[in-house]
Amino acid sequence: MDGGVDTLAIERAFAVQKAGVEARRTGFGVPERRAALSRLARAIRREEAAIVAALRADFGKPEVETILTEILPVQEEIRHARRHLRRWARTRRVAPTLATFGTSARIRPEARGVCLIISPWNYPLNLALAPLVSCLAAGNSAILKPSELTPATSGLIARMIAETFPPELVTVVEGGKETAQTLLALPFDHIFFTGSPEVGRVVMAAAARTLASVTLELGGKSPSIIAADADIENAARWIAFGKFANAGQTCIAPDHVFVHASVRDRFLQALRARIAATCTAGARDPRLARIVSDHHAARLKSLTADALSKGARLVHDGGAEGRAHGPSLIEAVTPEMAIDREEIFGPILPIIPYEDEAEVIARINARPKPLALYIFGRDRARTDRIIAATSSGGVCVNLTMLHYSHAGLPFGGVNGSGMGAAHGEHGFRAFSHDRAILTNRFSPLPLVFPPYEGRPQRLVALLRRIFG
Ligand code: NAD
Repeated sequence: MDGGVDTLAIERAFAVQKAGVEARRTGFGVPERRAALSRLARAIRREEAAIVAALRADFGKPEVETILTEILPVQEEIRHARRHLRRWARTRRVAPTLATFGTSARIRPEARGVCLIISPWNYPLNLALAPLVSCLAAGNSAILKPSELTPATSGLIARMIAETFPPELVTVVEGGKETAQTLLALPFDHIFFTGSPEVGRVVMAAAARTLASVTLELGGKSPSIIAADADIENAARWIAFGKFANAGQTCIAPDHVFVHASVRDRFLQALRARIAATCTAGARDPRLARIVSDHHAARLKSLTADALSKGARLVHDGGAEGRAHGPSLIEAVTPEMAIDREEIFGPILPIIPYEDEAEVIARINARPKPLALYIFGRDRARTDRIIAATSSGGVCVNLTMLHYSHAGLPFGGVNGSGMGAAHGEHGFRAFSHDRAILTNRFSPLPLVFPPYEGRPQRLVALLRRIFG
């Protein structure tokens, strides 16, 4: 809950940015944008220790994970954008078509204007600042609303941004749901939202009122499939990393695993060994991130309790104490259980043995299209078959999550898991409008303008004979 939303301050922050739109159209070119990105990179470098401390305070995130998954990805996004921005922002020529013979055509990527970025708590620095990089690279201003569930990180982002950018370029508005809704009522030019599918619907409905364009980076249940011929050690290593890093609170964490029945025992054994190697002190092991809030810790406990009461079995119990939750493995999950329907978003991994690949594909296709699909196996033809038979935002073969880190790949979901894409050039395009510009040189089209009797009719008849 927000303690009294300062609507006037929010409207003022928006008006300040709106007033600067025209000046930015001409005065915020590639050199100025690259300079803005460098300022952001320097601010992050300067505040590294504070960032690590804030994430530790918010949910006990270990330093290495903070550096690997919060700081480095944003710095990489900045480096990549600075290096390629000139090319991305260039006006592109397009060859003439028959009807436009005698003209020249160009596509000019332009800033959309004033953008709203709403970010979640699970990677609170990365998911606030990486979209900001694309937003600035494309020449926009931004109002950033980070999550209220990570107050230390959100406060730090607000201070960093205030010290780095003038408010007409970037402003942070802190607050929760009501603050977000006050912002969503304003006529932004683009809204970039990262969060749950439920709130994604609220954002899209709000955007429908102002006709703001939207990018929705949502979540859902990302499945993994382990085929009989998979390298089981490798599968266990990547799935344990994907599921238990950040305590499973990752949009692209493998939500559940379909494992071929013939390798189920070996996979379980390998997974248990991975857990034992990385977490020796139970749920409170300092190498594990905490669950972000009491509410989410209780939600995970009730997911487990509901599943156990309906016949599921914990085949590895990592324990749960307060906001600490150890890696846990659960079997015999069925569709009546909430854990089979809801995005788990925690370190509990359902393991579902299968015999028939077609049945797995049918189960995946019966649900909203996932954000990621992970396939483990040596048979390339089978992998291609599974990819062709399903849909998802992205796919990783024989690893998990790393597609997020490839600056050249579009990162995003499809329908239930989102729309539009982030990262690198794809992020730049999300925050740009491709403006079509057609210039007349010697277009002969006036020869067929009305009145149509006589020459236009004869020319059209000739054209039909040639091209019809
Ligand atoms: P959330 O949707 O609850 O909140 C996200 C943001 O929306 C927060 O800033 C919050 O203040 C705001 N918000 C919450 N309720 C709102 C409402 N009714 N109206 C307007 N704004 C509202 O998500 P979360 O719990 O912070 O994050 C977890 C979800 O985000 C998971 O579903 C996860 O899969 C998804 N996620 C997706 C990506 C991605 O890149 N696709 C990345 C991280 C998380």
